[in-house]
Amino acid sequence: MPEGDTIYRSARALQQAIGGHPITGFETGLAKLARVNDDTPILGRKIERVESRGKWLLIYLSGDLILVTHMLMSGSWHLYRTGERWRMPRSSMRVALHTANWQAVAFNVPIAEFYTSSSIKKHPQIAQLGPDILVGDFSQDQAVERLLSFAAQSPDIEVAVALLDQRILSGLGNVYKSEVAFTAGVHPFRAVKTLTHAEAQRIVDFAQRYMKANVVDGKGDGIVTYTGNRRTTHTMHQEERLWVYRRSGKECRRCGSTIQMRKQGSQARSTYWCPQCQPWVESQLMPQDRN
Ligand SMILES: [Zn+2]
Repeated sequence: MPEGDTIYRSARALQQAIGGHPITGFETGLAKLARVNDDTPILGRKIERVESRGKWLLIYLSGDLILVTHMLMSGSWHLYRTGERWRMPRSSMRVALHTANWQAVAFNVPIAEFYTSSSIKKHPQIAQLGPDILVGDFSQDQAVERLLSFAAQSPDIEVAVALLDQRILSGLGNVYKSEVAFTAGVHPFRAVKTLTHAEAQRIVDFAQRYMKANVVDGKGDGIVTYTGNRRTTHTMHQEERLWVYRRSGKECRRCGSTIQMRKQGSQARSTYWCPQCQPWVESQLMPQDRN
């Protein structure tokens, strides 16, 4: 599943190419969107701006219409110059927005819907999103407070499950989840109630640092959290750029212990950790111990 940084990069690329331009063509393979287009034509509207919110991508059109997409596992937005050949079959196209110079095409997006500025406030997920790590006004202090107050409400949720919960913080996905827990030195299966304030701070700090580092202009699609290795080859495999993700059975880059993997949460997502660098903590901390 694309993580928040991937969506952020997609939104930025779309904004640069089609933001501010009028729509010269609209295509969709989705009946619901086609119906909106019949009622309130998309053609001729201006693309006001493109934004990411967590893992959601929002395209604001003039006349109070917002195209909302979520990639889930399989979806992606592509950008083509007019006349350029698509790299995915036409049958996978769900939405295509044409401007004079570009075609923005959403392939296989499982969620694509139109909203207005008032109906989006009632969106079951977007309206509840926690602070977006990649947004300019993101406050680490507020995020720490949010994580800890969530821990007070749902004390037994495991740390890595909480990191994927977009209502607490939005943007983190399955790769960052393991990487952030590792660098914060927190065992991903610990209950959130065992988090100290300092640990919550480290988690938020590394989450922001990694996400930001990975949206630097020109970065490719792979997530990089580990840069200690000398880049002897030009191409790096994904596992060479990460601390623990997809490295089960391999040596920890810090301590040499064997990296572990276990499925976690109701969705059975793979979680990776180092038993030495991320020690197990059983007992519940008293509020006065949170420092
Ligand atoms: Zn280790």
